[in-house]
Amino acid sequence: MNLHEYQAKSLLADYGIPVPLGQAALSPKEARAAAQGLAGKTWVVKAQAHTGGRGKAGGVKLVYSLDEVENAAGEILGATLVTNQTGPQGLPVNSVLVEQGSDIAQELYLGASLDRARSRIAFMASAAGGMNIEEVAAEAPEKILTTVVNPATGMLPFQCRKLAFGLGLSGDQIKQFSNIMMALYRLYMEKDISLIEINPLIITRSKTLMALDAKINLDNNALYRHQSLSALRDITQEDEKEAAAAQHDLNYITLNGNIGCMVNGAGLAMATMDMVKLHGGEPANFLDVGGGATAERVTEAFKLILSDDKVKSVLINIFGGIVRCNLIAEGIISAAGSIGVTLPVVVRLEGTNAEQGLAMLETSGIDFITAHDFTAAAKKAVAAAA
Ligand code: GDP
Ligand code: MN
Repeated sequence: MNLHEYQAKSLLADYGIPVPLGQAALSPKEARAAAQGLAGKTWVVKAQAHTGGRGKAGGVKLVYSLDEVENAAGEILGATLVTNQTGPQGLPVNSVLVEQGSDIAQELYLGASLDRARSRIAFMASAAGGMNIEEVAAEAPEKILTTVVNPATGMLPFQCRKLAFGLGLSGDQIKQFSNIMMALYRLYMEKDISLIEINPLIITRSKTLMALDAKINLDNNALYRHQSLSALRDITQEDEKEAAAAQHDLNYITLNGNIGCMVNGAGLAMATMDMVKLHGGEPANFLDVGGGATAERVTEAFKLILSDDKVKSVLINIFGGIVRCNLIAEGIISAAGSIGVTLPVVVRLEGTNAEQGLAMLETSGIDFITAHDFTAAAKKAVAAAA
């Protein structure tokens, strides 16, 4: 689950990391009032949407009067923000963050995430922070400094100093940077974060370090431990189909292909997508209907798959281990019948009572394409989509 920038910054502030004074607003009038409450001559109006790249997409506006604050908020609020990270459909913007403008001398980058290869949390920093960090990472990776935290000791002060020296900081800035990094590590651990990025971490003209942007991604599997954070969920920022799936406890992820996949078990679902690709197709989704694939769940899963108009064929791949294939077949038949599926549906059943299940599908009166093994099923689904 992602947080909005203003929510992430409030967490940073709780942990003692300096952030600009600011306030979220839902209307241009509110934005004006927010700016009035923040002393200064310049303000920044920032689109709150779960994406980076807002600056380059017109979602961050530096303004010099209260009228301009109101106008900028009017332009941003209610609009759809399309950035290089959102895809062409973009994201709706329902709130803005109004902040005191900052005087930037330098933009650094500081981030942390789990390094899966090492099974440890890695901190990354760069003196080349700001809006082009992705290009720096791709073209000059040596400009990104890394340090990995040993879970037995936690972050050690020398690790912070090492990165601070690497960034070319000196004097009091080294201390400020170390404090920020230590606080960030504590925040990361205590809130079960999976990704945190401060880009840019600025050095102001008065030589202080401050988080000008903040991105936090929380570990969904640990959300139950953080009720106040999970209450910050903004489903307007999430894929509609994925949000609907979550309501039915279906594990669903939208992809770009045209073959809808319905599978029981996450591992088999991954293998199914591999098989589809191996035979020249592209999956439209990942979908794990879970161990107890009841008629109800199969119906919901069908609806979900069919709500994607990219889908040209459906591949159902079920292993009857805990569930029996004849029950699954019953579920598929009743779901397909009640929804009125018109696309080609390829079904592969394996495991307990598989033969019985396949026979039921073949005599159901609905035009299922049955398959007896995995490869044949994938090939048939790819052919049907083409
Ligand atoms: P992102 O593009 O979505 O990552 O949004 P950011 O919050 O990082 O803002 C993009 C850029 O806007 C930053 O890299 C800064 O260069 C600029 N910016 C943001 N806030 C201020 C500010 O208070 N003053 C100035 N001068 N520039 C700002
Ligand atoms: Mn940024």
